[in-house]
Parts: sequence; structure tokens; C-alpha cells
Amino acid sequence: MSEKVKYFPGKELGPEALDNGEVLITRYIADLKYSWASGEAVGRFLSELKNGRIVARKCNRCKRILVPPRMFCEDCFRDTDEWVYLRDTGSINTYSIAHVGTDAHRLSAPLFVAVISIDGASELMGFLHLLGEVEEKEIKVGMKVEAVWKPPSERVGSILDIKYFRPIK
Ligand SMILES: [Zn+2]
Repeated sequence: MSEKVKYFPGKELGPEALDNGEVLITRYIADLKYSWASGEAVGRFLSELKNGRIVARKCNRCKRILVPPRMFCEDCFRDTDEWVYLRDTGSINTYSIAHVGTDAHRLSAPLFVAVISIDGASELMGFLHLLGEVEEKEIKVGMKVEAVWKPPSERVGSILDIKYFRPIK
């Protein structure tokens, strides 16, 4: 305010003004379209998941096998050399029990989220995924697990083409 302006004309609005219908509200769902390039390495990784296979990249200098694959070895500062297929088995590197969903709502049943070290890949190589067909108390770091795939007709080239990993009995 100033010496000349002692108050602003009009009515101050707060949240109750919306609830009481004092202002016009319009709602719509935006029709937004976008695309995202996954890149050469992850693009092939996702395509191979659709085929029911896990593919990695090998660096012939340090001999590491990288999964998810990358075209550049961050240890050697050089391009990786070849594609290699891995088995769809691994072990639990670490895990978490999630009681809250991604939109912060409470889950009726907890999700078991784990970093899976994939067999045949180098140490600490693997990816985050879900655990299934397992009881909370059974889950242990180092537990051997195998991928449970969606049927081929339902795969779309997503990490979720693997439904979850389950313990190897
Ligand atoms: Zn290397």
C-alpha cells in the first residue's frame, strides 16, 4: 500500500473461495505428447527384454561385463567392445520393503524391491526390480533368484517385461 492507495479494491480469495464456487474453475486433461530416446545400449537392452533375454556389454580391457549395458566403460574411459547374453538369474544385492506407493498412498500389501546382481555380470552390476513368490521373512541378501517373465505376447520392451524375481527353490 501507499499514501494514496489505502486498500486494493475487490475481494481477497482463499481456498474456501474455490470450495464455495465463488470463482470459475475449469478442469481438463492436457493432451501432452513426448518421446524419449533411450540410447543405443539401453535401447537394445529393452528390445532384448521383449525377446526374454538379458543383454550386457563387455569391456575387453578391464574384462567387466556391464548390465544394464553401456557403450562406454567408465573405468577405462573407452568404448565397450561386445554384446554378451546373460542368464536371467542372479542374487539379491540389497532390498527394501515398501509400504507406501509411488504416489504416497499406503499399500494394502507391501512391495519387495531389490537390487538384483545378475549372474555372469561383474560385481555390483545389476538392476532394481521387484521380488515375488516370497514371504517377507524369507528375503535375505545373497538369496538366489530367477526372473519370472510376462508371456511373450504381453512384452513391450520394458523392464517390467520381467514381472519379478522369485527365489530359486
Ligand atoms: Zn573397462
